[in-house]
Amino acid sequence: MSITIQNLISESNKTAKNKGWWDDENRNIGELLALIHSEVSEALESYRITGKDELSKTWLSKSGKPEGFVIELADVLIRIADLCGEFNLDLDQALKTKLEYNKARPYRHGNKKA
Ligand SMILES: [Mg+2]
Repeated sequence: MSITIQNLISESNKTAKNKGWWDDENRNIGELLALIHSEVSEALESYRITGKDELSKTWLSKSGKPEGFVIELADVLIRIADLCGEFNLDLDQALKTKLEYNKARPYRHGNKKA
């Protein structure tokens, strides 16, 4: 099964709502961005466990929760999609716009070293 960006957004937002994460109407954008970042940090912690040679390794925690670097990257996307769903943001179009723009940028634009 392949998933589209729109499916990712609708599934992520629907599940988050069903699990009560949107019961508090005062959630703010800063908190949501911090939660996205927390998943990036979890990816770093997974990388520290597996190292570069086993980035694709996944496992189940004692409670049955999927773990691993790529699982945490999935969490990043799920949180981004949930935010986009809640605020009706057209991530699909934004991706198309930015991917096209990036293609047109000069080699190592900005003269940065990394
Ligand atoms: Mg996670």
